[in-house]
Amino acid sequence: MTRKRFDENMKIDREYVLSLIEGAKETTKEEIDRILEKAKNKKGLEHSEVAALLEIEDKEQVKKLFEIAGQVKKDVYGNRIVLFAPLYISDYCVNNCVYCGYKCKNKFVRRRLTMDEIRKEVEILEKMGHKRLALEAGEDPVNCPIEYVLESIKTIYDTYEKNGAIRRINVNIAATTVENYKKLKEAQIGTYILFQESYDEEVYKKMHPNCLKGNYDYHTTAFDRAMEGGIDDVGAGVLFGLADPKFEVLSLMMHNQHLEKKFGVGFHTISVPRLRPAEGVTLENFPHLVDDDMFKKIVAIIRLAVPYTGMILSTREDEEMRKELLEYGISQVSAGSCTGVGGYEEAMNGKNVDQFEKADERTPIEVIEDLIDHNYIPSYCTACYRTGRTGEKFMNIAKSEKIHYMCKPNALTTLMEYAIDYGDERFLKKAEKFVREQASTIDRGDIKKFILANIDKLKNGERDLYI
Ligand code: SAM
Repeated sequence: MTRKRFDENMKIDREYVLSLIEGAKETTKEEIDRILEKAKNKKGLEHSEVAALLEIEDKEQVKKLFEIAGQVKKDVYGNRIVLFAPLYISDYCVNNCVYCGYKCKNKFVRRRLTMDEIRKEVEILEKMGHKRLALEAGEDPVNCPIEYVLESIKTIYDTYEKNGAIRRINVNIAATTVENYKKLKEAQIGTYILFQESYDEEVYKKMHPNCLKGNYDYHTTAFDRAMEGGIDDVGAGVLFGLADPKFEVLSLMMHNQHLEKKFGVGFHTISVPRLRPAEGVTLENFPHLVDDDMFKKIVAIIRLAVPYTGMILSTREDEEMRKELLEYGISQVSAGSCTGVGGYEEAMNGKNVDQFEKADERTPIEVIEDLIDHNYIPSYCTACYRTGRTGEKFMNIAKSEKIHYMCKPNALTTLMEYAIDYGDERFLKKAEKFVREQASTIDRGDIKKFILANIDKLKNGERDLYI
């Protein structure tokens, strides 16, 4: 039997994780069946159970894993998919991350956007219909200090293109101090996102040689400081491809449990980036690349282990993989992304400044139409954090059935708003038909009425309607 561990201080117990992996090797098919049955209850899984599922190889059991993860996903999230786009504001970086195109060893002309340039990027994003951004920056205390990040957030929230507005900014910047997290909270960010890259301390140190980010303990305790600073929603992730994926998934679960016990709420989201080629980065130098089969299992297992934690997929994955993972795990995807500083304006001039190679180059409207065709509701909803449904409060609502009566009408309303503002006549017709059909499936008259009334209100010029 493996031990259960909880430590008030965030520290991954390496021996414990390795013992979980070792112990799971003997898992029988019957035991896996038992765990899969248990997972249907949406109460999450023990570490040893996650370790056991990571051993599934049998085709029938893999199929069952996907089916149950699909059902859990449907129960918790319905058919909504949240959309967002990244906005890179600065590529100055003092770090030397082996896997990253922004490493300071790479010599190229670096830049940070001026407020005017940020406004231009935001206007382009708003013209695409985006309402929710993930703000991204390299780490450089001199060239990209917190004051610059805060000013950028203010500029983004203050930029409106016709009816366009950014209503939620999630922030993905380097680990920082409680004081700085308080400032981010005051600036009204949504989720603070930070990828651990690798929980394996040895790999982590190798991947971040001689640089600020190389401090493993400071990085792993960033969410503790963020929560102390008042940020309710934190978004985790590892960069799959750096270390043993089983070690990473189990460590993610331990990190989540640590936050749940200490702060009453774990990760708001988990992102699952996989390593991509980048400037000075070729994949053959990484011995732990995660193949498609393992990657799909990981997504399904995380879905079962933490059913109420949103899962995010970026354009690092191609259209086909994104479609498949929506079925049994992913609840948020980026669309129409540029992953470089000033990338949206540069793209209009035919230039590509991406941080790493993307695999899905479709425009947001193409992604949206494809989602509708597959019976998903593309959602630009940002209501939760603006109505104070964050952190533990959000999790409690999410765990009750009530969430469907908020998220679905809000999602349908934002889709209708998108169609009116950014769709042509054909798209608007198609979207309205879909919104009405979806509304008719809701078993509460007041909620149906709310959606149908919103269609009229939006046509009459009202915007930003939500429960
Ligand atoms: N500088 C911030 C930090 O230190 O956390 C994060 C911003 S960075 C733009 C966002 C993420 O991109 C990183 O956390 C890393 O996981 C990911 N990334 C870097 N290089 C990558 C690559 N070659 N392929 C895929 N993802 C990569």
